[in-house]
Amino acid sequence: MSERSALVLFSGGQDSTICLAHALAHYDRVETVGFDYGQRHSVELECRPKIISAIKAAFPQWADKLGQDRLCDVSVLSGISDTAMIAETEIVIAENGLPNTFVPGRNLLFLTLAGAIAWRRGISNLIGGMCETDYSGYPDCRRGTLDAQALALSRGMDRPFNIETPLMWLDKAETWELAQELGGQKLVNLVIEETHTCYLGDREHRHEWGYGCGTCPACDLRAKGYETWRAKVPA
Ligand code: ZN
Repeated sequence: MSERSALVLFSGGQDSTICLAHALAHYDRVETVGFDYGQRHSVELECRPKIISAIKAAFPQWADKLGQDRLCDVSVLSGISDTAMIAETEIVIAENGLPNTFVPGRNLLFLTLAGAIAWRRGISNLIGGMCETDYSGYPDCRRGTLDAQALALSRGMDRPFNIETPLMWLDKAETWELAQELGGQKLVNLVIEETHTCYLGDREHRHEWGYGCGTCPACDLRAKGYETWRAKVPA
């Protein structure tokens, strides 16, 4: 097991891209995995290879650290889930208090698959963009859930697993700030241009903070975080 290697759960969104930069700044070898689960749109997935290429071009010191990238087919999820992340339904808060973008079991499944890949690759550090702050209260993004899952993976595969969540206690403004710290304006620009978070898959409307419809909950968070961060730093 290499302590100096990490596997990043990399979706092509803003958060996981910043997690990837965090991993490249702190580890010697970094691999990536993405999951195709029949999302309402494939925009995020299409962004993934472009982001990796852009990182290699903009940060030569990180290029050599980047190892394999995998895309796992987990379309089985769309067969058992009927949520706004998968079906073309309106995004609303459901009776249970969770937005209907919540896909039950999704992160648990992703982390299990990531653990299996990491086991084969001799990697013990899994890195993901889960976050308790500024979020919709997804129970599988909570640190307690991830501690429990790290224990389950470690016991179940008889190897120590660490699940690192660099964004766990940051709000969206602090996430932009972290991008700046890790890779300066070059990384901020890369996040703006290449990453995708809009639930509706809109790549036509370009805002100061990147592409998106500008009105869905994901765009709203991204825009407000960007504006709050920009207000704090000199242009
Ligand atoms: Zn949007």
